Amino acid sequence: MSTSVISNYIHGKYQQQGNADLFDVIYPATGETLYLVEEASPALLEQAIVSACQGQAQWAAMTAVERARILQKAASMLRERNDELARIEVLDTGKPWQEAVEVDVQTGADAIEYFANLSQSMMGSQQPIGNDFFYTRHEPLGVCFGIGAWNYPLQIACWKSAAALAAGNAMIFKPSEETPRGACLLAEIFTAAGVPQGVFNVVHGDGKVGNYLTEHSEVAKVSLTGEVGTGKKVMAAAAGTLKQVTMELGGKSPLVVFEDADINEAVTGAMLANFYTQGEVCTNGTRVYVHESVYQQFMQQLLERTQRNIVVGDPMNPDTNLGALISAQHLARVLEYIKHGSDEGATLACGGAQLKPQNFEGGNFIEPTIFTDCTDDMKIVQEEIFGPVMSVLTFSDEDDVIKRANNTRYGLAAGIFTSDIRRAHRVIARLEAGICWINAWGNSPAEMPVGGYKESGIGRENGVETLKSYTQTKSIYVGMDTLEGPF
Ligand code: NAP
Repeated sequence: MSTSVISNYIHGKYQQQGNADLFDVIYPATGETLYLVEEASPALLEQAIVSACQGQAQWAAMTAVERARILQKAASMLRERNDELARIEVLDTGKPWQEAVEVDVQTGADAIEYFANLSQSMMGSQQPIGNDFFYTRHEPLGVCFGIGAWNYPLQIACWKSAAALAAGNAMIFKPSEETPRGACLLAEIFTAAGVPQGVFNVVHGDGKVGNYLTEHSEVAKVSLTGEVGTGKKVMAAAAGTLKQVTMELGGKSPLVVFEDADINEAVTGAMLANFYTQGEVCTNGTRVYVHESVYQQFMQQLLERTQRNIVVGDPMNPDTNLGALISAQHLARVLEYIKHGSDEGATLACGGAQLKPQNFEGGNFIEPTIFTDCTDDMKIVQEEIFGPVMSVLTFSDEDDVIKRANNTRYGLAAGIFTSDIRRAHRVIARLEAGICWINAWGNSPAEMPVGGYKESGIGRENGVETLKSYTQTKSIYVGMDTLEGPF
């Protein structure tokens, strides 16, 4: 059987190129090629820009209610096709079916629905100045460019396009080369729901393609989800034309377990914060600080539940709760970090090895891994690993643990477990992170703004403020009296 080829989705349909460079997409659980993808040539990228400009003009001319109706239809279609889309996400990413079927498509649809509803109440303001007055309009930016990471491909495409489209923009989206299919299906769904041609185009390729559009003078804003290093490159490239940017980048988030925490819940939180999506989550709480008085109890339960309850293997098996890492290269990188942890003197309390489950010997599987006896200066405690590797540290003093938690260039997420309501809010207020959880971990509803402090990002996704970040404010001053001047 010949391998299928996916092309770029431009102006409401797939556009094949005669002699495109092709790259392959691998199923992380087996190493087999799933399909091939046409890389967008510069000529095709120019076509995507022309199409997006045309589409945006038509889209912006519609009323917010008309646009919202179409976007709501798209959200319903995503939900109707939940299982089919979830399966595609599992194949592209290697994540467990049990997560994708519950989370990936639904949270994408939620954001589209949320911004569709919100956009109808976006209003300008009016203020009198003597007899004169001024008013403001929130106008779309024009053509926006979204760049996705590979860990939540469809969700990221939905979150970026939801706010951009609801505000009347067009979006050209470049998914990660490793996971390009979800964005294409979203494009098909948008078209079927009635989004005009060109309003959501999908282009394929690596950093070259990303850079081409980031530098393009017709692109008004770039929204990236990716690593901090990529964020710096994209921001530098966007500076040439002074584009607006949203940067959703990496993290090394702290999770603090106080002595008065419910230990059962704290262990659940720590496991969610390290093993969900096999640790490939930007907000992962990989630095777990446990108060020394509850450390033994916490560790005993953590190790017992990790060894007993984690099922690694076939991602499509509904019982599997730890899938395959995205690539062999990434697996090697995670294993290298684990070696570093042991070399630096941390104790490997469990896991640490590559796994080759039966019938999935070619996949990128790894044991859930927990290090104890960690210190703040260790590489495994400082750098984002992006795999199922938890570092446990101890503390005895509230002020001290806050200082240690904040001692990082990252600031994406943070969480605490405590039953003391005053401590909960006092500590959270002092943690330098954009996404915080108290007695919870990972929840990210469309209503809640998310984004990073410090090097973890700029701007926010989701929540009320994000819609406005896809608009520019026009102020209009209206003179009611006769105009006078010195000339
Ligand atoms: P990445 O390597 O930074 O890539 C992200 C995207 O940027 C990919 O589509 C990539 O293309 C593209 N890209 C690379 N170089 C570029 C350039 N010079 N110009 C324009 N685009 C460029 O990140 P990843 O490995 O896909 O994803 C993992 C990272 O994303 C982690 O650091 C994680 O924390 C972060 N993340 C953050 C959030 C958040 O909301 N804060 C959410 C999810 C993930 P190709 O890969 O196709 O070459």
